[in-house]
Amino acid sequence: MAYQLSEKLKNMVPYEPISGDYAIRLDANESFLPVDKEIKAEFIQKLSEIPFNRYPDPLAAEVCRKFADYYGISADYVTAGNGSDELISVIVGAFLSKGDKLLTVMPDFSMYGFYADLAGVTVLTQEKDKNLNIDVDAVIRTVKREKVNCVMFSNPCNPTGQGLPREAVRRLITSVDCLVVLDEAYMDFYTESLMGEVEQYDNLIILRTCSKALGLAAVRLGFAVANPTLTAVIRAAKSPYNVNSVTQAYGSVVLSHKEKEREALQEILASREELYTALVALQEKYQCFDRIYPTVTNFVLIETSHAKDWFEALKARSIVVRLMGSRLRITAGSSDENKAVLDALEELIQTSK
Ligand code: PMP
Repeated sequence: MAYQLSEKLKNMVPYEPISGDYAIRLDANESFLPVDKEIKAEFIQKLSEIPFNRYPDPLAAEVCRKFADYYGISADYVTAGNGSDELISVIVGAFLSKGDKLLTVMPDFSMYGFYADLAGVTVLTQEKDKNLNIDVDAVIRTVKREKVNCVMFSNPCNPTGQGLPREAVRRLITSVDCLVVLDEAYMDFYTESLMGEVEQYDNLIILRTCSKALGLAAVRLGFAVANPTLTAVIRAAKSPYNVNSVTQAYGSVVLSHKEKEREALQEILASREELYTALVALQEKYQCFDRIYPTVTNFVLIETSHAKDWFEALKARSIVVRLMGSRLRITAGSSDENKAVLDALEELIQTSK
């Protein structure tokens, strides 16, 4: 009998970001800022010292220490990953078994369900409320009723841009006895991190990424933060040399420049405000959207029945944003990029009327 793929494997499709050469990319929530000159020079020096014939440090100790110092936590709680994406997959593989239940609260980052499904974990989904916020009590009820093994969600959330206050997240963590994976990929833009408290919880893993506010998307660097017991499992479950030496070196340099990163963050937040305010102004002028969601991230989500048409029309103008059903998610870019997408949208609104 010839080897046969299972139905699940036959139906798998690769994650497909929008590929191609576009002048303006506002689809992946990356930082729009170029690399700082001093950081670049320091990195090049460090790069020249890497022993490329040797494996990287398996525990990425230096970059974990820099990360811990940057956020004022202990390095004992930190594990580095090849992007936080890798860590999601490691955590699902280590902490969940076939037939276990993962709860996600939709809409949310799609990779939670993807990795769980791949591992044979049953993915339960619950909808967010009409403002796209998490109903914490409803989540707690579902976890208890369905005997869920793990809840995974982003705070602030991609794609909604909504943030859940610390107290609500604490309540969720302490009201359930399952594992809670709290993805704080966009927390640099908000102020409600629980990273400083991980040792108080026996069921909390926090994920962070350097791909957004810190501008390291190209080199793939993320971190898991958890108490020592959970950290020991993550470190044991990950592949030995998961973060390459170039990434470790670059991450260590960037995370040594807190002041520069703080300034960069302010620039991104100013750009987000500019984009959000201009979209609200378009709405006031034309009543053209069904909804603009407030945001605590570096992107803005709008709802419109024209989403698909406008997405295609923007693409034809070499501007890419993210299409999600009847919504468009637009990453804050440079002033010129923001202006380009806003001008193009205004033109499309006028012709759609
Ligand atoms: N979590 C969320 C909520 C994200 O939006 C993303 C990136 N889109 C990730 C995790 C993955 O980030 P990384 O680049 O670190 O793999």
